[in-house]
Amino acid sequence: MTQLQRIAIQPSQMQQDKVINLDEEQLHYLCRVLRLRPGSNFIAMDGMGKWWLAQLRENNAIVIEEVENYQRELSTAITLIVALPKNGFDEIVRCTTELGAACIIPVISDRTLLKPSPQKLQRWQRIAQEAAEQSERSIIPSVLEPAALKSVLSSTLVEDDGNSSFINTSIHRSTYRYICAAREDSNHLINCLQKLKLQNPDSSNQLQHLPLQYLPQIVIATGPEGGWTEAEINYAVDLGFVKVSLGKRILRAVTAPIAALSMITSILESDSIQF
Ligand code: SAH
Repeated sequence: MTQLQRIAIQPSQMQQDKVINLDEEQLHYLCRVLRLRPGSNFIAMDGMGKWWLAQLRENNAIVIEEVENYQRELSTAITLIVALPKNGFDEIVRCTTELGAACIIPVISDRTLLKPSPQKLQRWQRIAQEAAEQSERSIIPSVLEPAALKSVLSSTLVEDDGNSSFINTSIHRSTYRYICAAREDSNHLINCLQKLKLQNPDSSNQLQHLPLQYLPQIVIATGPEGGWTEAEINYAVDLGFVKVSLGKRILRAVTAPIAALSMITSILESDSIQF
């Protein structure tokens, strides 16, 4: 199955009669870019954890069977809040998707220099999709519309009413919030995550098959080139974000989220540290 090409579809493209309605862009990709012919098989992923073996037809595709996905996902949903850097957000989306982010939220902070154009969001979503396909992930992270830092931080506290435009949180899931701050004498992120392990017994087996919105969640925020202002850090701390260090060196705004994600996934995947 690994040799088959994978494409992402919207859950709404899957019809009752097992027909997958493909749009122009997907047909172009399958027929012109991948050079598949009608009758060729490929994997359709709905970005929510479901995979199907599908057969291409003239203008659509038909599901042959549901297939086991490769279990590449973490049993904790990681939400990354990133102050938009002047350059390099594409890189952040690509690398943190490869590493396992579930949701990426670009934010405008006090020292953000760049106000992104609307086309950027589509581009980032496409990059996330390509990176998820490349990493054989069954979940494509959502890249949300850039929003003001404060509203995004506080949205992580809002209970999910099904309409939440930021993060799906619910009373049933535990959420752990961190804000990365350079030059502060904070606890290292790794130490904080290890403490969580002590508080939470290993429940990875029960969690494995839960939909994303019910998984425990880690929310982590990284700042722009100029760093967070003191007021921003205080605001986050007042909301319950724990200030953390990523080490003694000062990382670039592009490096910090990638480093943070790789620390989180290492801890989550090593020796059954799960919560
Ligand atoms: N110009 C600032 C640093 C900004 S680094 C200064 O000189 O102080 C950009 C962002 O990366 C920071 O806001 C922080 O969120 C994160 N970051 C970089 N290095 C870090 C470290 N060692 N520990 C924690 N966060 C760090």
